[in-house]
Amino acid sequence: MKKLLSALIAIAMLCSFTACTPSQGNGSSDAPSASQIEVQTETQAAEEPEVEKLEWVDFAQYSLEEDVPAKNIILLIGDGMGKNIIKASEVVKGDKLVMSGMPHSTTVTTYSQSVTDGKAEYTDSAASATAISTGVKTTNEALGVDPDGEDVETICEFAQKLGMKTGLVARQIMCHATPAGMVIHNTSRGSYPKIMLDMVRSDVDVMFGGGSQYYSEYTKIQSAVQEHKYKYITTGNELKSLSTADGKVLGLFSYDNMGAADMSPSLMKMTTKSLELLDNDKGFFLMVEGSNIDSYEHKSDMETVLGQMQGFDETVDYVLKWAQEHPGTLVIVTADHETGGVQLPENPKPEDINNTCFTSDGKHTNADVPLMASGAQSAGLCEKELIDNTDIAKYMRKVLSESHK
Ligand SMILES: [Zn+2]
Repeated sequence: MKKLLSALIAIAMLCSFTACTPSQGNGSSDAPSASQIEVQTETQAAEEPEVEKLEWVDFAQYSLEEDVPAKNIILLIGDGMGKNIIKASEVVKGDKLVMSGMPHSTTVTTYSQSVTDGKAEYTDSAASATAISTGVKTTNEALGVDPDGEDVETICEFAQKLGMKTGLVARQIMCHATPAGMVIHNTSRGSYPKIMLDMVRSDVDVMFGGGSQYYSEYTKIQSAVQEHKYKYITTGNELKSLSTADGKVLGLFSYDNMGAADMSPSLMKMTTKSLELLDNDKGFFLMVEGSNIDSYEHKSDMETVLGQMQGFDETVDYVLKWAQEHPGTLVIVTADHETGGVQLPENPKPEDINNTCFTSDGKHTNADVPLMASGAQSAGLCEKELIDNTDIAKYMRKVLSESHK
């Protein structure tokens, strides 16, 4: 009965979504201001997006080994994924999300080092990515640098030093804040061409996302791709046929943000292939971002946000299944910050989950975010009820140091 109900709701939502799909390419006219928000990319894919199918993956719980060294880390970041958007998703689904079944959980503070009128500002994705990647609090807009602009070691650099492989998967442009903060150093997150160039120069083994414009329009980036021996691909079919023999690979599958459209390849397909390419004796670090949860929270567009949550949870499901077959893998699911100020009534019903749940005019908030962990050494990250986002970086370094002695 529950299933039938959620299927009916899904169909109803699909219909209403079709009617109000935001047309891509209408720019950032309604984008909220400056540093408290995601930087909206100016140009978006030209085609009208197709509707993403709202099929929630069935709730399942996996039993991953915990008392083994953490050789691999898979970090899944739902951009803007606060507690209440998870709850809203579960109300609509009529069941728990897969991420909610992970055995360990805690809560994470996200504030950045930016201060206005003596008050810490809400973080943007750059400062938050830096905190999660480096363990250092910084100011908004800053990637892989401290508040003085000095470089601090990113998680990809750290993993590479240990001889591990590294990978980044996102639906946003590859040089957007969250993936970029895992690897490069720049005081200004908006310097996309330079950031993309530095990402190629960083020799991350696998990078899948949007933003082919930075390849097609910048010869310096094309040269770097050659110099650093990347295979460059742009289609789902090319992705499918990749093998470890191809070496390092840069896949940019859309001109700009891959958006909410059902543009091939999905977050899950990119993740599936990444795991196939990264799996090796020395281990790997992979960050997977559900980028557009945030993008559509900025637009207070519940239907599309739920579609993004569905795609993200489906990917979490796949990753947990994979990790169950690959002992020595630590899986972490968290968010960089909350977006939209999502509020729900008491005992919410599916019909209560709509655009009126957004209360922050599309801005980021300071709300603590959830963290779920499963697999190798996962309990230690969740020993305390409240941790800071910098603690995630410190913990990943600790367990990787121990497993790579
Ligand atoms: Zn963000």
